[in-house]
Amino acid sequence: MGPDGSPERWPVIALSNIVKRYVMGGNDVYATRGVSLSVSRGEFVAVMGASGSGKSTLMNIIGCLDVPTSGHYRLDGVNIRDLDDRELSRIRNRKIGFVFQGFNLLPTMSAIANVELPMAYAGVPTKERRHRAGGALESVGLADRMGHFPNEMSGGQQQRVAVARAIVTNPSLILADEPTGNLDSTSSVDVMSAFASLHAQGRTVVMITHEEDIAAYATRVVRLRDGVITQDHHQTPVHPHESHLAHARQAEGSSALAGRP
Ligand code: ADP
Ligand code: MG
Repeated sequence: MGPDGSPERWPVIALSNIVKRYVMGGNDVYATRGVSLSVSRGEFVAVMGASGSGKSTLMNIIGCLDVPTSGHYRLDGVNIRDLDDRELSRIRNRKIGFVFQGFNLLPTMSAIANVELPMAYAGVPTKERRHRAGGALESVGLADRMGHFPNEMSGGQQQRVAVARAIVTNPSLILADEPTGNLDSTSSVDVMSAFASLHAQGRTVVMITHEEDIAAYATRVVRLRDGVITQDHHQTPVHPHESHLAHARQAEGSSALAGRP
């Protein structure tokens, strides 16, 4: 069994010849032109590519926010083709934890209340919610910030709250779209060390980024160009404390990661 309790027999993501066509003023625009990609449990994949290469289209399809024009997609063994809108949103809530560039926290709620929210929707009892939300915040190094509101936290801390919110339902996949896009290098290191520890716990992460320094944390880099995969390679990820970003962070004169679990 995987860390999330699901069987390991099948890949988390199995995309087969995915084509997405848009019609614009009578012309066909192909956002993806036949993408095949398999991601196994426990992989940490960075999806890279220039603007317009099809990253968002692919992420929307992987995240069950959109369906392909043709091709097949199995998410954790479930064929997405067979699902209607209601079932799609159900599988999205159950199997995917999203992390967005802009954090998307509710400003009127404390960190722990934000993290509890997906469980409130799922009908988890209050006491268990609080317990699990606390555990998730601890795992991203925010045990001492549970009662803080978003405007009382740095960007990096807010994004780590969003990471805790994404993992608290124990999804099969964590899908992150430019998670450090709004952050300075100091905060980026904090957030990437949270992702690195998710990966160390055996979670599956797919992350869009256009920054090489951020992709360096992943164990696999997939590059897109004009709607096709042009490169797909495995790599040894950097550790947060030895990355270029960490050095930039030191140059900024901020305190080190020391003291965080
Ligand atoms: P990226 O996220 O890498 O910048 P996108 O997936 O957003 O790329 O877009 C890929 C291509 O598909 C681009 O040429 C874009 O203009 C086109 N495209 C994306 N979404 C739509 C849409 N809703 N309607 C028409 N064309 C689109
Ligand atoms: Mg995009």
